Amino acid sequence: MRGLKNKTAIITGGSRGIGRACCLAFAREGANIAFTYNKSRQEAEKIKEEILSLGAEPLSFQADVKDYTQCRKVIEDTLAKFGKIDILINNAGITKDRALFMMTLEEWKEVIDTNLGGTFNMTRAAITTLMKQKEGCIINMSSVSGLIGLSKQSNYSASKAGIIGFSKALAKEVAPLNIRVNAVCPGFIETDMTAALNENMKKQILELIPEKRLGRPEEVAELCVFLASGKAAYIAGEAIKIDGGLAI
Ligand code: NAP
Repeated sequence: MRGLKNKTAIITGGSRGIGRACCLAFAREGANIAFTYNKSRQEAEKIKEEILSLGAEPLSFQADVKDYTQCRKVIEDTLAKFGKIDILINNAGITKDRALFMMTLEEWKEVIDTNLGGTFNMTRAAITTLMKQKEGCIINMSSVSGLIGLSKQSNYSASKAGIIGFSKALAKEVAPLNIRVNAVCPGFIETDMTAALNENMKKQILELIPEKRLGRPEEVAELCVFLASGKAAYIAGEAIKIDGGLAI
């Protein structure tokens, strides 16, 4: 246990992949879990059961992070149920990879509005509550793509680099109020997002990773648990890589 018992964690995109692993990891620590999803209702129901079986209290929301009104409702309803918000993990994200000369305005906007816009919407909706509490922890899911740039991901890399800038600026703003903001930058992690890669692409990617394997969602979730715990009390405004050495 790392002091997270009875804390309230909001995790966006909790239905699948890294977000799902975060829901379960924080539930194991005894935190109350409020999570969002966009389309995966069935998966969300299953995760609620898993959270309950771990002895934690789940709350789920179908909410599109692109919509500020829906984000506000997530925050308000979580507060009504659990009385406080200790941890916000802005994890929901998408890719729409394409070479820039072929990229449509829709593909650009959808990725920026979901990844960067969604992070703003949830954080803006939550921040006054955290400021009043004079306590809180925000973890924003960026990517190594936002640090080093990846070919055919100009929309995604821009959104994830934006998240790092957002996290650093906000960390300076709210650290005096005992609110820590950090970004996490995963490399290639085994989720639906990377399942779309063909075998040839996977082979090429593995050659670039010194550890010669993809990461597991649980490994990213463990980093988030650490960052949310008191053990990370002096870490603010960081962008922490978890990538098997990919971006060394
Ligand atoms: P994933 O398996 O594709 O899951 C994405 C999650 O985000 C799902 O729960 C999805 O909900 C939710 N989501 C998508 N659009 C949403 C929206 N508009 N509103 C609310 N929720 C939305 O992805 P993942 O691999 O776990 O990635 C999680 C985060 O880590 C993302 O920010 C991603 O960019 C980042 N990341 C992933 C990797 C990787 O290799 N996997 C590497 C670096 C960074 P539904 O299930 O309802 O669609």
